[in-house]
Amino acid sequence: MCDTTNHEAIEAEIAKGCRVLYLETPTNPTLKVMDIARLTAAAHRAGAVVVADNTFATPINQSPLALGVDLVLHSATKFLGGHADALGGVVCGSKSLIGQIYHYREITGAALDPMAAYLLLRGMKTLHLRIRQQNESALRIARFLEAQPGVSSVFYPGLESHPQHEIARRQMRGFGGVLSFMLKGGFDAVRAFLPRLRYAHLAANLGAVETIAGPPATTSHVECTPEERKAMGIPEGLIRYSVGIEETEDLIADLKQAISQGG
Ligand SMILES: *Cc1c(COP(=O)(O)O)cnc(C)c1O
Repeated sequence: MCDTTNHEAIEAEIAKGCRVLYLETPTNPTLKVMDIARLTAAAHRAGAVVVADNTFATPINQSPLALGVDLVLHSATKFLGGHADALGGVVCGSKSLIGQIYHYREITGAALDPMAAYLLLRGMKTLHLRIRQQNESALRIARFLEAQPGVSSVFYPGLESHPQHEIARRQMRGFGGVLSFMLKGGFDAVRAFLPRLRYAHLAANLGAVETIAGPPATTSHVECTPEERKAMGIPEGLIRYSVGIEETEDLIADLKQAISQGG
């Protein structure tokens, strides 16, 4: 495990010897962005295979294979399916690498059930339309939140204030439907704020047509101790907000009323 924002440190670590470089960009839940082409080149110099989790970006916003990555992963449960009604995953890459994975899968017996396969294929037909809407909404919502006095920080690669905004602009066509933010007042403020949201579902999922909000501390990263979350740079008062396809103005109005009730 490496600090994802320090590219020099990752390159130094890779140069010591590396068989697989596993990247996730943007990361869950703080939306950190890594330079895919740069780290892939470093890994290939060391003879490593590079795997990138492209779930947050989706194939609409980011093409890691074109940047040199060997294998791309997607949780199809999220944006690809898009309707929060099926579980699945996708791995893409060269015939030889996929052949090895396919063989392992044959032996272990993991297979997608026909109904989930049908729902995922059906969901993917509207992927480009959903992502277009979610990219646009998420950027507007991130800008709105950034201007609120009650919000202490907003994490979204499309914001000029994002530390890796320039990298994101280079390697992404859109910045995705997920953002996260912190309220002044920490976890107590979050606990009061979340139930006031009328549009957002409070759940651990993301990437659906419905907006979903939740604190990583009690959802995606609930299995970590507070110390582990701290070490991963996940603040306790963080809210992950996965923008759906609702009218952007409605979502902003909803956030506005939930923030203002906090006084
Ligand atoms: C949800 C998620 C996964 C795991 O996918 P499942 O379909 O829930 O097994 C992996 N990576 C990222 C970035 C995710 O958001």
